[in-house]
Amino acid sequence: MMEENIIEAKNLTKIYENGDVLAVDNIDLSIKKGEIFALLGPNGAGKTTTISMLATILPITDGDAHINNYNVKNQPDKVRKSIGIVFQEPSLDGEMKGRENLELHAILYGMSKKERHDKINEVLKLVDLDNKAETFVKNYSGGMKRRLEIARGLIHEPKVLFLDEPTLGLDPQTRRKIWEKIKELNKGNSNITILITTHYMEEADELADRICIMDHGKIIALDTSKNLKRQLSGDIIDIEFDIMENKMILPKIISEMNEITGVKHVSLGEGKSGDEEIPINLPANMPNINPEMIKARMRKIMSDPKELLTAWKKFPMARQMFESAPLDMKKKISNMFGEDLIDQVPEEIKAIIIKIKNGEYKENEEESGPIISISCENGGKQLPMIMQKINNYNLIINNINMHHPTLEDVFLHHVGMAIRDESSDRMKDVKKHIQMRQLRR
Ligand code: ATP
Repeated sequence: MMEENIIEAKNLTKIYENGDVLAVDNIDLSIKKGEIFALLGPNGAGKTTTISMLATILPITDGDAHINNYNVKNQPDKVRKSIGIVFQEPSLDGEMKGRENLELHAILYGMSKKERHDKINEVLKLVDLDNKAETFVKNYSGGMKRRLEIARGLIHEPKVLFLDEPTLGLDPQTRRKIWEKIKELNKGNSNITILITTHYMEEADELADRICIMDHGKIIALDTSKNLKRQLSGDIIDIEFDIMENKMILPKIISEMNEITGVKHVSLGEGKSGDEEIPINLPANMPNINPEMIKARMRKIMSDPKELLTAWKKFPMARQMFESAPLDMKKKISNMFGEDLIDQVPEEIKAIIIKIKNGEYKENEEESGPIISISCENGGKQLPMIMQKINNYNLIINNINMHHPTLEDVFLHHVGMAIRDESSDRMKDVKKHIQMRQLRR
């Protein structure tokens, strides 16, 4: 292991035996001391599994990893002392005060009373919670809870901090505050190395020295944000079409666009995606539940047919969610249920799935058409040619947007689909822009 690398993984692999899932596929990582390193990828890419293996929480199936020069497989205790972890699922005790939560952790790490007292005060100050130390955690806001979890991860002065989706479900202002704290930690005296997983583009862009894009358990790109964007030099043109009856012509249009001189890459988005909004109507007697957390959990469940079957059987709410989900999501879920599983699906859902599969399902919902994203050398020069191609097919265009590459475009380029969330859905911004322009006229 090279001295300057505080995290090093070689051929790291994870297979979940129970589901025969290859979650992490032979990846190599070298993370320098003092770096903020982001693992960016869609749900199910393998980010959490990767950091869980590095953090000694999950056994490594194959390959090897070192942290702070300790072998993750053979020296787990030494590794654990070198790292702090903040996981996606909150793990604080709401019935305990802020300070008490930290106290418990410090005791587990075998710290003396004096050490505990000093260190807890220090970390509480670091995350601006010193004035909330005696408040019960159940009365904390989402952002305060996250900050307390970060503080807890820092008590034993780790060399490396793992943050798994640290701002998931938080509002934009709170996210910014957490980002500031993360930067302070990294740049401060401790110069702590931070490995963060996220599916927020902005988060990776804002925080990370280097970004590693993961998909299907593999690393598909790894560089600084600047360099990743530079690889896509030129312009990006997004064209949103009106709803199309015959989507079969799209591959043909795309291949024609690819032939235009100066066009480097063309990818197809699906327009309004069911992923972005899972309608959730929480019962009024569950006020303490964070809907964003539930949504995140639901996204996970919705990508696994076995989990879905269990959820549908156990919870009426899960069945209602399917019924009120956007059509795209219903289609995606329907595709997961082949002949082997369809008979286990509850009757009301089975009826919908069968209709969808037979093309008989109708919904009043307004859909938007497909979006083609074209990476080209010079948008101004290539746009007329692109329009000419489209004109041959008599298609109606709803929006056109031209811009320099963003991290989202880099992701689209490598993964072939966009990670969608409220903050990164550019098409929404484009629409807003165009509407504003029309209003001004
Ligand atoms: P997310 O952002 O949703 O947390 P992720 O990138 O962290 O996604 P992982 O949670 O690491 O992805 O999951 C990677 C793959 O492994 C997925 O296909 C997931 O369904 C699968 N997986 C995760 N945990 C288990 C488990 N305990 N048993 C079987 N398969 C699992």
